[in-house]
Amino acid sequence: MNLSTPIENISGIGDVFKKRLKKMGIETIRDLFFHFPRRYEDFSKIIKISEVKINEVCTICGKIKSIENTKTWKKKMILTRALIEDKSGTILSIWFNQPYLTKILKEDDIVFLSGKVVFDKYGMFFSNPIYEKISKKDFSLDDLTHTGRLIAVYPETEKISSRWFRSILKPLLLSFRNKIPETLPEKIIKENNFLPINEALFQIHFPDSKELAEQAKKRFSFEELFYIELFVLKERLKLSKEKAIPIVFKIDLIKKFVNLLPFKLTDAQRKAAFQILKDLEKPRPMNRLLEGDVGSGKTVVAAIAALNTIKNGYQVAFMAPTEILAKQHFQEIFKLFKNFNINIGLLTGKNDKFYSKKLKNDFIEISRRKLLEKVLNGEIDILIGTHALIQDKVKFNKLGLVILDEQHRFGVEQRAKLCRKTSINKPEEKTVPHLLSMTATPIPRTLSLTIYGDLDISIIDELPKGRKKIITKVIDKKDREKTYNFIRKEVKKGRQVFVICPRIEENNKNNEKNENLTEVKAVKKEYEKFSNEIFPDLKVGMLHGKLKNSEKEKVMKDFKNRKIDILVSTSVVEVGVDVPNATVMMIEGAERFGLAQLHQFRGRVGRSKYQSYCFLFTDSLNKKTKERLKALINCENGFTLAEKDLEIRGPGDFVGTRQWGVPDLMMDSFKNISLVEKARNSAKEILEEDIEFKKYPFLKEKLKEFKNKIHLE
Ligand code: ADP
Ligand code: MG
Repeated sequence: MNLSTPIENISGIGDVFKKRLKKMGIETIRDLFFHFPRRYEDFSKIIKISEVKINEVCTICGKIKSIENTKTWKKKMILTRALIEDKSGTILSIWFNQPYLTKILKEDDIVFLSGKVVFDKYGMFFSNPIYEKISKKDFSLDDLTHTGRLIAVYPETEKISSRWFRSILKPLLLSFRNKIPETLPEKIIKENNFLPINEALFQIHFPDSKELAEQAKKRFSFEELFYIELFVLKERLKLSKEKAIPIVFKIDLIKKFVNLLPFKLTDAQRKAAFQILKDLEKPRPMNRLLEGDVGSGKTVVAAIAALNTIKNGYQVAFMAPTEILAKQHFQEIFKLFKNFNINIGLLTGKNDKFYSKKLKNDFIEISRRKLLEKVLNGEIDILIGTHALIQDKVKFNKLGLVILDEQHRFGVEQRAKLCRKTSINKPEEKTVPHLLSMTATPIPRTLSLTIYGDLDISIIDELPKGRKKIITKVIDKKDREKTYNFIRKEVKKGRQVFVICPRIEENNKNNEKNENLTEVKAVKKEYEKFSNEIFPDLKVGMLHGKLKNSEKEKVMKDFKNRKIDILVSTSVVEVGVDVPNATVMMIEGAERFGLAQLHQFRGRVGRSKYQSYCFLFTDSLNKKTKERLKALINCENGFTLAEKDLEIRGPGDFVGTRQWGVPDLMMDSFKNISLVEKARNSAKEILEEDIEFKKYPFLKEKLKEFKNKIHLE
């Protein structure tokens, strides 16, 4: 048996558990070893029965004097009552609704019991303690697995109990002790005083003390961060050795463009644009992230970079995560470049239409084939689109700049693929296009040092002048009617409304109980309700991801042209959609969305001179939800909200971290800046010393494995 041995070869794992484990992604012994506990329970205090105190957690050891099942007189519950005796005294133990226990625990058995002693109508007794039967003669405390020590508690999934994991893991780990190959360079282990892998693995599952559990956790957290750093730093190093076309900063051109804008750029926009234009002048590929709150005006900054690139004679690719957004960028860019004689192409899903701006003030529809031809021969200056841009058949003539909007919506590989698109006209020069990514979801510093590999960052930290603060409120159930009346008034004033629902269709029927609990608002149902019952006098529209492209387009167009008053939608409107006349954002099931996402929704309104509102509806007001919604109400700054989101929810739900497949227990490490920096420095040292990992073949292996683990969407 080695670490790659499939789990079905382990004695004690049959078909049922094999299936359950596979569902959790556990297929080999290695996977099992690296399925880490979520937390620990401390049962290490072993005392005499006479020393037991009420409400204290402890462990006792004694002989079962008697054990029997009894029914409570209301016959609602089965109690298993056992009397336990040691030299100091006796105590009662009661298990509730576990009658099978009398088959396992018998009179005269020696047992350890861990748990809490309570006092109520049954007297003083151990309530539902964890038991461990001792059958060995030469028993020692080291043999304890479930009681009398720190006990690992595993994430509750797929009907596998923590007890089961502990029972399987202990003998396995013991048989592998000192046989598991080290995965960190010796030097790093020494420098940081880390536990060696064999010890660390044992301690993380069966810790001898809290300190050792913490040390093991620290080692694995470091290791996780270390691989991420190795991976991103290596990619970055590779990129810095590539060549790019220097794009000359055409000052007069940019001045002219800025002067023709219908508004004055904010200082933050100017600064960001300047940083980007300076960066583009270098013969190395730019890799810059433009961070700016929703509505801060990132598009126009990207347009400046695009214009400068195009007038240097190179093409631009502009990719957005949804069709709606790509279409909107196309229209926006079309307007912005009206006076600059630029050909613009739009390329989206399979059945979409394609346009190309032809010198005049209008755009025409051309076939997909024609469009691709024009991209290839260089006639199209800027190609805007969705994932469709990544396809192999899309070939550029001389691609100079790639722009990614809402970059966190794209997988690592998708980003890389677009950037690898080289130009066809001078293959001997082999250049890489510059990359400008944009996001409205600010990235906390620890994350930007890890998964974003220390990108260069430009920040737009101010909104255009004259925007009013959006009034955000959690609406009480009883005030629903009032809110509807308010919405009607807003519409009568000429404004428009977004309604966001978390799901498209109702959950399936067999889940009815759950359904009632959370009362999932389905878009379709909600749409019917709004159009037939609540606002029969108003024009209600519906938007969701399952509509056909042409239908989506029509809905968005109608909404923009005020043919729709109220748009009921799923989260497809989350990113970027710009309808300045909308002033109310109503969100159903607000607890189902992350803070960053809620902030994005809110950013759909408040884009004009009118006062705007964000109304939050929720059925679950647990502590975390309350805390999150409160943060949203009190804070309008996306950067602060991002740090808060990381704090409240942890990075598990945070942009990008899921893609990296980091285990739950390690997630906290993303908040630990000093550990992140340590991992980063170690990774740098290793890469400087030996970038091909000749000395460290296990790192090469691990990195390959790591690369496969990253979800490539
Ligand atoms: P985001 O950063 O969320 O992508 P957009 O680029 O969509 O924001 O800009 C939001 C809106 O603000 C657009 O309608 C845009 O024309 C407008 N806008 C951008 N910059 C300014 C500015 N400096 N002054 C006024 N309005 C602006
Ligand atoms: Mg945008």
